[in-house]
Amino acid sequence: MKSYCLYSILSLAPMPGNVSLIVDKLRTKYDPTIALHYTNPFELVIAVSLSAQCTDKKVNEVTALFFPALAQRADHTAHRERLQIETLAHMPLSEIEQHIRQTGFYRAKARNLQRMANTLLEQFNGIVPDRMKKLIMLSGVARKSANVILGELFHTSEGVVVDTHVKRITQRLRLVSPSAMGGKQKVYYQPHKLDYVRDASPEKIEKELMRILPHELWNEFPHLLVKLGRDACIAQRPRCDVCILQSVCPVSRAV
Ligand code: SF4
Repeated sequence: MKSYCLYSILSLAPMPGNVSLIVDKLRTKYDPTIALHYTNPFELVIAVSLSAQCTDKKVNEVTALFFPALAQRADHTAHRERLQIETLAHMPLSEIEQHIRQTGFYRAKARNLQRMANTLLEQFNGIVPDRMKKLIMLSGVARKSANVILGELFHTSEGVVVDTHVKRITQRLRLVSPSAMGGKQKVYYQPHKLDYVRDASPEKIEKELMRILPHELWNEFPHLLVKLGRDACIAQRPRCDVCILQSVCPVSRAV
């Protein structure tokens, strides 16, 4: 027996009342911790920047060699982060590119990383800032990345991370209304049955999630959806038959 009403499906009306039930179910299966590896705040900023258009697994493979390379002269753990920032700020761009090449878009990423290191030294005394408005001053750190960093390092949140998984799944679950989030690229799972809007606005979805989610869930909820998106709620062929949310999902294909 599904716990949504026919009216909601037909009208595509959002069902924010399902949020706590959804979170409870997701928690039974998924770990909401970040998959990126890091040992200090600067390393996290690098890892988050490199994760754009790249899998966390690949980023971890790359940073496993890159981070130590930035800290070769560190004689003490306490100096490691500062040394890494200074090393990156002065490293030849071509060398940075070689280190991060496998993460894709490596030229732009290398440029951003170096600028980010310089800004940290020049404007923040080598300390990763703890506010959104300062974090987004760092090259390569937009609002989404800043939300990840704030949640992970400072356990605070000034917004909700909306990546490709969150964008798709919040629409599928009708936590947000696909018809009210902008975009034109409608994806149907059956003729005339809307699945989600591929190019819906992340900004609109974030605003809506900030309205319907309790503040204490702003960090955890996106992590849970990302895990669900990788495991079951895949873009093209969702595995509804094994999905933990099939009983509450309006677009479940499970029979
Ligand atoms: S039931 Fe299917 S569409 Fe719904 S959340 Fe699960 S995998 Fe995604």
